[in-house]
Amino acid sequence: MEDLVHSMNDMTEHFNDHTCATCKHDFEYRDDVVHADQKSYHQACFCCQLCRVPLNPRHYFEWDRQIYCERDYHVVKRRVICASCDRPITSNITPIKALGRSYHPGHIKCYRCYCPLTEKTGAKERQQRVYCRKDYKDLFLPKCRSCNRPVEKEAVSAVDGKLQGKWHLKCFGCHTCHEPFPDNTFYVFENLPYCRRHYHQLNNSLCRSCDDPIEGLVLKPSRAGGSILLASLAPFAKV
Ligand SMILES: [Zn+2]
Ligand SMILES: [Zn+2]
Ligand SMILES: [Zn+2]
Ligand SMILES: [Zn+2]
Ligand SMILES: [Zn+2]
Ligand SMILES: [Zn+2]
Repeated sequence: MEDLVHSMNDMTEHFNDHTCATCKHDFEYRDDVVHADQKSYHQACFCCQLCRVPLNPRHYFEWDRQIYCERDYHVVKRRVICASCDRPITSNITPIKALGRSYHPGHIKCYRCYCPLTEKTGAKERQQRVYCRKDYKDLFLPKCRSCNRPVEKEAVSAVDGKLQGKWHLKCFGCHTCHEPFPDNTFYVFENLPYCRRHYHQLNNSLCRSCDDPIEGLVLKPSRAGGSILLASLAPFAKV
């Protein structure tokens, strides 16, 4: 290696380059200079730009005009570049992946609320746009017909289509008393589920003397739009 470390005097004879390719400073008289591949470096600057280990001019690697040791050369070559700021995303950071590209956390924003997207906010795609998890749910997931909040996994809906829409499992019950249906059967009135008693109350088919439902009367719904369907439930149907 000694033969490749020249003094400034030697260098000016053979090289026109007066600046260090790493630090871009001009060489000064008596600086130790390394020449490699038609470039010149301060001896101290001729080191891996990632781990700073001194390099051997006969065995070093160059990538994007920077010099590296062999190991770090492979690291930078594989390095992921943020599609927003164009800077590398180091391996200790989990990139936000969206629309086939990678971003630093926070370097891409939700299309709806403009919050910077991170692992915490999540990043969901829909039709070439990226949303935070919350807005994605609000905008695109079906709403529970009881609490009106997005239904994700454990949804219930009627198997036979006699009742439209979806419910959270815990929200599914009689629209009047909110009691669940123990045998998974219920009555439907104006596209809402009811227990036997509250269905008959709406339908005006409770006996006036004993207050028990009169099942025969349900065939003649007294309210416009009322229905008398007995439906059954499909629990845990995936959305
Ligand atoms: Zn230098
Ligand atoms: Zn290195
Ligand atoms: Zn970035
Ligand atoms: Zn958002
Ligand atoms: Zn709900
Ligand atoms: Zn009820």
